[in-house]
Amino acid sequence: MRALRFDGAFLRLMTDHAAPPVTSGETAVRVLMAGICETDLQILQGYMGFQGILGHEFVGIAESGPLAGERVVGEINCGCGRCATCLAGVPTHCPHRTVLGILGRDGAFAERLSLPLGNLHRVPESVPSEWAVFVEPLAAACRIVEQCTRVRDASIVVLGDGRLGNLCAQVLKRHGGEVLVLGRHEAKLARLARLGIETDLATARTPDHRADLVVDCTGSASGLAAALQWVRPRGCVVLKTTIAGPHAQSLAPVVIDEVTLLGSRCGPFLPAIQLLANREVDVESLLDSTWPLAEGLAAMEAAKTPGAMKVLLRMEPRPADE
Ligand SMILES: [Zn+2]
Ligand SMILES: [Zn+2]
Repeated sequence: MRALRFDGAFLRLMTDHAAPPVTSGETAVRVLMAGICETDLQILQGYMGFQGILGHEFVGIAESGPLAGERVVGEINCGCGRCATCLAGVPTHCPHRTVLGILGRDGAFAERLSLPLGNLHRVPESVPSEWAVFVEPLAAACRIVEQCTRVRDASIVVLGDGRLGNLCAQVLKRHGGEVLVLGRHEAKLARLARLGIETDLATARTPDHRADLVVDCTGSASGLAAALQWVRPRGCVVLKTTIAGPHAQSLAPVVIDEVTLLGSRCGPFLPAIQLLANREVDVESLLDSTWPLAEGLAAMEAAKTPGAMKVLLRMEPRPADE
């Protein structure tokens, strides 16, 4: 099969990659579309030390098992199912886990992938495939609502106007937060403003130490420092940014202001699917461009372009490719 594989140094388009083995309890999935995420770009910089087929945001058709023939999306963490963490119901933190396209498991930038049946969720017919690709990052945004008990009426600053910042802002607004998004790109901020979300250029505002909740979606090491200038004493900073490099931020302000630092990663799929099915979150305006897998290397370059939104890969060849 065709696949985009990172060997630790270079990303290559393979044309004869073996399809992933489908072990017992797993389901083979024929990938329809996949989204390129900041994490994929970070992996190319050395994040997680991953080698293999990239990609973890996808929609596909299940080819085996009880869901055969159904359009599905998939949770990316695969716990061992036997350890204390898994038995406690937290497979996303299983110390033996594999993660689709990120840790020990080939990912979605390929014609086929394999995931445990329990990771897969049916996509309602009303949700187009282009939207379904957003379920995984949207679930990550929904995770904040699970973690922070007080979102309604909270004053919230989202740092970063990129793909994840946009989704986090929409979800937090949906849950009654008073959201301000600070970013660096007029066009991206304008997209959010059209959805009725307050926005401004980060450089136009002076941090005031008054936000109840600050969400760092900057994708940059400087995000934490900025977040600590916006959050009020005893407020909460949610870190969504995973970066390959080190942080140089002093943590003294965290102690002095008794700030809660909350790491936040993968989230629940069902609320995310529901938000899309109910058209309560807009992802259409986040779509950037769609590329055939055969042009995957160019697609990755497009995703790296400053100002790029969600770049998609389409796995089935167009008639013109054949
Ligand atoms: Zn992602
Ligand atoms: Zn486990």
